[in-house]
Amino acid sequence: MKSAEIRQAFLEYFKSKGHEIVPSSSLIPANDPTLLFTNAGMVQFKDVFLGTDPRSYSRATTSQRCVRAGGKHNDLENVGYTARHHTFFEMLGNFSFGDYFKQDAIHFAWEFLTAPEWMNLPKEKLWVTVYASDDEAYEIWSKQVGVPVERIVRIGDNKGAAYASDNFWAMGDTGPCGPCTEIFYDHGADVAGGPPGSPEEDGDRYIEIWNVVFMQYNRTADGVMHPLPRPSVDTGMGLERVSAVMQHVHSNYEIDLFQNLLAAVEQVTGTTDTKSHSLKVIADHIRSCSFLIVDGVVPSNEGRGYVLRRIMRRAIRHGHKLGAVEPFFHKLVAPLVAEMGSAYPELAKAQAHVEQLIFKEEQQFAKTLDQGMRLLEQAIEGLEGAVIPGETIFRLYDTYGFPVDLTADVARERGYDLDMDGFEQQMEAQRERARAASQFGVDYNQALKLEGETHFNGYTQLVDEGNVVTLLAA
Ligand code: ATP
Ligand code: MG
Ligand code: MG
Ligand code: MG
Repeated sequence: MKSAEIRQAFLEYFKSKGHEIVPSSSLIPANDPTLLFTNAGMVQFKDVFLGTDPRSYSRATTSQRCVRAGGKHNDLENVGYTARHHTFFEMLGNFSFGDYFKQDAIHFAWEFLTAPEWMNLPKEKLWVTVYASDDEAYEIWSKQVGVPVERIVRIGDNKGAAYASDNFWAMGDTGPCGPCTEIFYDHGADVAGGPPGSPEEDGDRYIEIWNVVFMQYNRTADGVMHPLPRPSVDTGMGLERVSAVMQHVHSNYEIDLFQNLLAAVEQVTGTTDTKSHSLKVIADHIRSCSFLIVDGVVPSNEGRGYVLRRIMRRAIRHGHKLGAVEPFFHKLVAPLVAEMGSAYPELAKAQAHVEQLIFKEEQQFAKTLDQGMRLLEQAIEGLEGAVIPGETIFRLYDTYGFPVDLTADVARERGYDLDMDGFEQQMEAQRERARAASQFGVDYNQALKLEGETHFNGYTQLVDEGNVVTLLAA
């Protein structure tokens, strides 16, 4: 089954169960300034769950474009390293706004995955987890659905636990949340990893495909959990992950959606290293960068634009590593449009604009990427220990436009850590100099711009407040 057919089948299944098919919303959350990007299908329905945005329907289904590259759900560092994480992915979801609850939600998910006329997956390869104290969900799975208890795992809040799962889902630090039940697919003994709830869980053998959240609370900034007006359901299944299962491949990067894209990456970078993880990183990043631009984000030095810039520069650096000397990243927009333009006409429409913005960023960064990489290579060569000094990280950031996570990405490839405390000290010294300069009425920003090469204003400060990464003027 092709990804496009799975997407379609999902929406049709839930339509047949009385759900309204609602289009994907923008990656920029319309109703929530605290959230960096749309990171799940429920984001556009946040106020519906809270009861403040009444709709004509009480059941909905979507295929939602999502980005997880910052904030509470940040998978940027996983990309290229796991078989299952992207910065951009599509989340298939069904939602009940005070309509059905645990029982129907579980039966729907199971029927869609296992019924011969739908996904027809072998039941014995599916594992489920429930929230530790959720006896009701446990009983539904074991008694009604008939999942053997050996494959039902109770999982708590994951505070200090050895495993990765956490069966209490929240969109962010505030907002709708609740206990959940998750469905995993066992890709078989050839792949490293343990069952959910075991210390080896974070491998890629047992892959979480579907999360069914029983939305029951709204968490406010003071940490208090207020019951929602009516218990609701929010689910999310990664299209790329279920495609991998349906297409009998292990990694998301082997599915149909990625085949042509990966071939295009090889072609535009001219690499012969077809095994490099950089290929996946670039194929992933062209999707997030393009869709973010389609939704109105522009590379900049603050907020969402800075996250976009970080992803772009990361992709450009990986191309450089593969041997690309000329701008290449913008050339991937056309193959992406060929792959996804019919599902997302807005992408096809914006193609020229997306190419242009990416090309501009490539040109700008090309000036300093080479020099920055040389500085970093030299610094690594001369190192005694395994820690890259704060001063180097700062110079790369300040003079060469290397976002810290780009330096961290290179460091990780070579097995080095970063001295982040040292970096922070340099940043503080920089802010101090800026304050001193501004006392004399010098427009520091202007002065720096005149020097030409420096793309980052010396007086900016990196603040990561959990959900929003901003660069603020001191
Ligand atoms: P994981 O534990 O594998 O990181 P998650 O628990 O963080 O996944 P959820 O927040 O429950 O993911 O999102 C619902 C579903 O969306 C997941 O079950 C998975 O199928 C999919 N998904 C989540 N993150 C990603 C990602 N970065 N790339 C692709 N699919 C994803
Ligand atoms: Mg995750
Ligand atoms: Mg998970
Ligand atoms: Mg989950």
